[in-house]
Amino acid sequence: MPIDKNAEEEDLREEGRRRAYTDYDCPSCNANNPTEMALRDGDETRCNYCGTEYKVRITDEGRLRLKEL
Ligand SMILES: [Zn+2]
Repeated sequence: MPIDKNAEEEDLREEGRRRAYTDYDCPSCNANNPTEMALRDGDETRCNYCGTEYKVRITDEGRLRLKEL
């Protein structure tokens, strides 16, 4: 039976996007912020130390990106 390579890659990408983070390092002040709720793509979060607000983005590879609001 041939393996559907494309389907497998799609699955991996899905998996990456579903990944959630329960803490992050603030890009502004470098403080580690644990979060009550797991961060997901599209969420907004605020650093407990410097108060900077970020829009959360989870890349297709499952990496956390924070964009300052
Ligand atoms: Zn901060």
